[in-house]
Amino acid sequence: MTSAPSPRKLKLHVMAQEAREHAGLAEVSELPRLRSDLDLSGPPVQPVAWQAMAQWRERAGGEPELWLHLRAKAELPLTCQRCMTPVVQALTVDRWFRFVESEEVAQAEDDDCEEDLLVFEPQFDLLNLLEDEILMELPLVPMHETCPDLPALGEEPVEPSDERPHPFAVLASLKGKAR
Ligand SMILES: [Zn+2]
Repeated sequence: MTSAPSPRKLKLHVMAQEAREHAGLAEVSELPRLRSDLDLSGPPVQPVAWQAMAQWRERAGGEPELWLHLRAKAELPLTCQRCMTPVVQALTVDRWFRFVESEEVAQAEDDDCEEDLLVFEPQFDLLNLLEDEILMELPLVPMHETCPDLPALGEEPVEPSDERPHPFAVLASLKGKAR
């Protein structure tokens, strides 16, 4: 019996050799940087579903390259910036990465290629990468399309404050009536 390899210690070069896809569910408790961005006041958060596939790609006149395809789906509760209650944000990750042997190579080649570059590690922490990618997909200003309790504030112009009677003006008019 073989147990599934830990997603924090994946041997991607072996995975690529076997051409096998790995899939799993990551609880947000395993992703502490993401967890700290979530609104946990609502119902329990569903785990993040991920799939990863590594492959060797032949390259003309060079060593084959190791690539990784990471896909993920999540529904995460964030705090709506209009009504400050949880808003569930669905997001997906679908990205390709190419591994290089060092940080220097990554920096040198980064500008010339469209794919993301990662430095090869014999035991790769996939959950760390997953967490990075999800954090990048989070909206900067999460918001309900229509907030549950409030009328859509954004759609109606806010009354200019100078139309409201100034408290002293009200007081003055009361004084005037009292006279
Ligand atoms: Zn809202």
